[in-house]
Amino acid sequence: MAKPMDEYTWKDLTVGNVVDEPGNSVDYKTGDWKSQRPIFDESKCIQCAVCWNFCPDMAIYRKKDRFFAANLEYCKGCGICAQECPTGCISMEEEVS
Ligand code: SF4
Ligand code: SF4
Repeated sequence: MAKPMDEYTWKDLTVGNVVDEPGNSVDYKTGDWKSQRPIFDESKCIQCAVCWNFCPDMAIYRKKDRFFAANLEYCKGCGICAQECPTGCISMEEEVS
């Protein structure tokens, strides 16, 4: 488990800044980078999984009811899922904080 960012110093850097812990991306909740979030309209969804295939952050998952949703802890709001969805059922909504 990664420690909080403010506890890191330059002494924690690896030589050449190489990633020496493969598979550690799950420890970094990058979802708070986003300025937009995907909203799914399930009435238009044909469950084709195109959104799941195209998401570069593997943030989209299949729910028990077979529809898809985005894990907002990892979604960076790039909008690729909305762009690629063949039925236009994903829209991007402005994040409010
Ligand atoms: S790409 Fe669109 S239609 Fe296909 S599963 Fe995802 S949300 Fe549904
Ligand atoms: S907006 Fe980008 S990161 Fe978020 S679920 Fe869609 S494709 Fe993935």
